[in-house]
Amino acid sequence: MNSEDLIKSTDPNHPANLICSLCHQFYYNNWCTGTGGGISIKHPISNNLYIAPSGVQKEKMKPEDLFVMDPTATKYLRQPQLYKPSACTPLFLSCYKNKKSGAIIHTHSQHAVMCSLIFKNEFRIANVEQIKAIPSDKVCPETGKPIALSYFDTLKIPIIENMAHEDQLLDDLEKTFQEYPHTVAVIVRRHGIFIWGPTIDKAKIYNEAIDYLMELAVKMYKLGIPPDCNIGEEKKYLNLSL
Ligand SMILES: [Zn+2]
Repeated sequence: MNSEDLIKSTDPNHPANLICSLCHQFYYNNWCTGTGGGISIKHPISNNLYIAPSGVQKEKMKPEDLFVMDPTATKYLRQPQLYKPSACTPLFLSCYKNKKSGAIIHTHSQHAVMCSLIFKNEFRIANVEQIKAIPSDKVCPETGKPIALSYFDTLKIPIIENMAHEDQLLDDLEKTFQEYPHTVAVIVRRHGIFIWGPTIDKAKIYNEAIDYLMELAVKMYKLGIPPDCNIGEEKKYLNLSL
């Protein structure tokens, strides 16, 4: 196949088109401004890896800007001359290999940065309806698929320290794969968050749900309510009871 054909499709769900529409959306959500953040999607049929380049304004991303790697991640099938590959590429490749991901999203969400300042080694939030969007460490015996967290569970996401360069995060990212084998996200202190899923649809849902939960946790913290407190305990922390 001609390398240009890899990025040409009229299907809005083709990775080349979907990466661009998601980059636009993430830019306007304030998750990927100033060229920050990144995204990669594995083509569900060819298994080729589509990766947004470094240094491109996310709201202007076009299919022609994308890098494409072969499924073994050993060589580029398409390399735009104008751009460098994303600095996140080694981290994305590790998520594909170690987490069997179908897509990875990296944002510079301010909610992730704020939570990394509030929490030490682990972001925690409990007893909030939205955590049901995130898988737990339990697997359904019939289907083998992960069971979602329940309303009464606590969502825990590891926090790693930031480094001068994105690829230097690789060792700490891979350490969290051992320590939190079921996590779908890692927060990077004062930087942002990496989120992955078996498909881009799942990764997008996890990203939106976790960002909502991180924003909520910051608001709870500002009121003096620990985001992982038990149901009813919040009254102890509030100065006024209504
Ligand atoms: Zn980044």
